[in-house]
Amino acid sequence: MTIHAHTVSDERGTSLDIAKIRADFPILGQTVHGKPLVYLDNAATTQKPASVIDSMDSYYRTLNANIHRGVHYLSETATEAYEQVREQVGRFINAGSSREIVFVRGTTEAINLVAGTYGLANVGAGDEILITGLEHHSNIVPWQILAGRTGSVLKVVPINDAGEVQLDDFGKLLTNRTKLVSVAHISNSLGTVVPVKTIISMAHDRGIPVVVDGAQAVPHTKVDVQGLGADFYAFSGHKMFGPTGIGVLYGRMNHLESMPPYQGGGDMIKSVSFEKTIYNDVPYKFEAGTPNIAGVIGLGSAVDYLSGIDSGELEAYESKLLAYATGRLLELESVRIIGTAEEKAGVVSFTVGDIHPHDIGTILDREGIAVRTGHHCAQPVMKRFNVSATVRASLALYNTKGDIDRLVRGIQKASEVFG
Ligand code: PMP
Repeated sequence: MTIHAHTVSDERGTSLDIAKIRADFPILGQTVHGKPLVYLDNAATTQKPASVIDSMDSYYRTLNANIHRGVHYLSETATEAYEQVREQVGRFINAGSSREIVFVRGTTEAINLVAGTYGLANVGAGDEILITGLEHHSNIVPWQILAGRTGSVLKVVPINDAGEVQLDDFGKLLTNRTKLVSVAHISNSLGTVVPVKTIISMAHDRGIPVVVDGAQAVPHTKVDVQGLGADFYAFSGHKMFGPTGIGVLYGRMNHLESMPPYQGGGDMIKSVSFEKTIYNDVPYKFEAGTPNIAGVIGLGSAVDYLSGIDSGELEAYESKLLAYATGRLLELESVRIIGTAEEKAGVVSFTVGDIHPHDIGTILDREGIAVRTGHHCAQPVMKRFNVSATVRASLALYNTKGDIDRLVRGIQKASEVFG
């Protein structure tokens, strides 16, 4: 696979070997519409290193069997591999126990699980669920469904013009009626890093548990769920260089123990009779049916991959790249950046004059540049900033200044065509 020299020539000032990192991701070596691919849609999904792809391939070639049931070699070995990843993930996010790791399909399912179990059991008529104005639809709609079912009320902490959560308002909105807070760690549409630790401690002062949507945080920063004090923490494998269809719900043991099951079926039971079913222990109680075994294996490889990179270096590299991207984009007069929080991760959302974001995206695509255009599953954020859509370039550790330069040239081209 050829690695395009232009993209790695200017990554000085980091001890991360970006050329080597890029070489780990087979897809990055390819051309799109005859141009070397520039992949800037990492907030939607990240690319996968060969180690992740190979581990899943190897699982299916040599280890495939259903888990937790068989006495035969393959089943036992697959079970062991699956359970080892649970331990690995537990260590990766510093859970108190690997039993606090529940495998789910992704962040969306994790939040729906909490809403449908903890939420239904603990939130009643007149109670309040508190979220913020920068949430992804996955952290809005499950709570609306819960509110509809229970007669509870969804309250929203406003964000300011920079896209920052207003902590004063948050404090005021925490009342005796608040039964649950759910908040993104990093916004997918604005890049804002939310002060979740402060939010959790403010909520805990009133005895209110907090769910954190960590979909955008895990690939960019070191997450320590105990350090944060999170009651629940949700994330997706595919946004952290792992496969699609697998994700994690971390939940504090006392909550998981007290929660009713999410779905009924095989594996989540100890015994079943027509009269009475005894549920399995945590976390199996929440993992009904045959799980995504290959996905868990791939997730384990993704955790290995991320664990092999110094998180401080990673953050420093991405933050420099973000500053470079912001500076270069602001050189273009017609660019308006949406989301200018002081604490920001590698997401730049912007509009270009009156040109429709989809038109920009289409021109960029012809240049081999993948960005996302639209509302990014955050329509309330678009409304807050009075735009219907934005162009979003979202970074990962394999992006380079060369990628940003190509992006800027592509936007200039689009401006010439549509301006
Ligand atoms: N929350 C945030 C902040 C996200 O960025 C996303 C994915 N765009 C989700 C939740 C949903 O994740 P998934 O689609 O993997 O369930």
